[in-house]
Amino acid sequence: MSNVIYWFRQDLRLADLPALESALNAGGAVVPVYIYDESMVPGAASRWWLHHSLKALDQSLRSRGSRLILRRGGWAQQIEILRRQTDAAAIFATKLHEPAARTIDRTTQGLRLIGSAALFNPDLIHSQTGTVYSVYTPFARACLAAPKPPAPSPAPHHIPPPAVWPQSDTLSDWNLCPHAPNWASHWPEIWQPGEDGATASLATFHPIADHYAQDRDRPDRPGTSRLSPHLHWGEISPNTAWHAYPSAEAFQRELLWRDFALYLLWHRPELLTRCLRPEFDQLAWREDPAGLAAWQQGRTGVPMVDAGMRELWHTGFMHNRVRMIVASFLTKHLLIRWQQGAVWFLDTLLDADPAANATNWQWAAGCGVEAQPFFRIFNPITQGQKFDPGGDYVRRWVPELRGLPTKIIHAPWMLSPLERATLNYPPPLIDLAEGRARALSAFGAMR
Ligand code: FAD
Repeated sequence: MSNVIYWFRQDLRLADLPALESALNAGGAVVPVYIYDESMVPGAASRWWLHHSLKALDQSLRSRGSRLILRRGGWAQQIEILRRQTDAAAIFATKLHEPAARTIDRTTQGLRLIGSAALFNPDLIHSQTGTVYSVYTPFARACLAAPKPPAPSPAPHHIPPPAVWPQSDTLSDWNLCPHAPNWASHWPEIWQPGEDGATASLATFHPIADHYAQDRDRPDRPGTSRLSPHLHWGEISPNTAWHAYPSAEAFQRELLWRDFALYLLWHRPELLTRCLRPEFDQLAWREDPAGLAAWQQGRTGVPMVDAGMRELWHTGFMHNRVRMIVASFLTKHLLIRWQQGAVWFLDTLLDADPAANATNWQWAAGCGVEAQPFFRIFNPITQGQKFDPGGDYVRRWVPELRGLPTKIIHAPWMLSPLERATLNYPPPLIDLAEGRARALSAFGAMR
């Protein structure tokens, strides 16, 4: 019986995985492999997730007569070594959108790419004149007019093992989990990486999905699915998420934002590092290491910003509305380049995803092709009053402000100096009106 390799990358699941089905249909034994190339993992939080997800995947494979072979090193080199060692007739994998993966995919001998990390193949979505979309709404319309994503298929019952298993690394030797200080210590209480965890998140979301459209912008409520890390690592297919709530249009629209980010990355790979509107390279961005550090640590003195940054540090996650608020504050009030915020997010978010991260940072900074205009500057006070009206979100993450009355919780600098002195909370890094005026003036000068 000949061997084929199944190369897991960002599809760490067994259900609804067309490329794995094709590997099984090849009729031989299947060697499942994951290759750890540090440059293909966004950051430290993602490495923690990856560790636990690989462990879960290995267990699922073992319950089906198989196991996961682990190798470390450059993808191109390691997959070729393994192909030779197993004498594999073919390598099956799911298509990725990252530029580095595409380069490797083009040159890997015997590689068969089936399916993709996206709902809609980015090569098949274009305008009637054949141009690539740069704006979300017509892109989403074109997706909705395209053939529907196929219904998900179940996981295989059995995966035929090879006669001889190739050598494998030991997961714990990769040291993917952070050590001291134990930053990740709360995460296992909050998150369950792996396919079962994704299924559990989907079940938890079930009662929430009915009021998703009303609550999705409320960080003080459990109003969203929290599927993003599972979707990034492919522990659940986007098809499965799509078909789980066919009547939840607002939720499907968000899944299409994920697709839009992958689509943009596919067609404009420079998205990851450069402003898609190049004139923004000329903006008078500031170098402000102290401001950046205060932002990272949730010590800006602006409650909604600090609550978000502390939620991120403690849970590896931040609510989408608050991501927009902290990104706007960094790039506009502080005039710090979006790339510096994006790097921090990639390192600390459990759902860190290069495409979604860069697309949303460029949106927030106003320099993307689909972007909030630069002159629309979120006011963190009014955003807080609107989306955290009772102040519960701020109270949860900024305990120094817990005792403040709701009417003042989003602007504690309105307290008397004597009252402020008892708070042990920093004054705002910048007067919000001044920051706004400075940003508008920099924008005016750029034009
Ligand atoms: P839900 O509201 O339940 O949405 C369902 C799914 O749709 C999400 O899991 C996600 O896969 C997708 N989705 C929702 N909103 C967006 C969006 N705006 N862009 C792309 N996909 C979306 N998302 C990431 O997955 N990884 C990132 O690195 C990331 N960085 C971001 C950086 C900034 C500055 C901002 C403003 C947003 C970022 N997002 C990122 C998008 C969004 O905040 C998260 O996808 C969302 O908060 C995840 O929560 P959820 O799973 O409960 O989302």
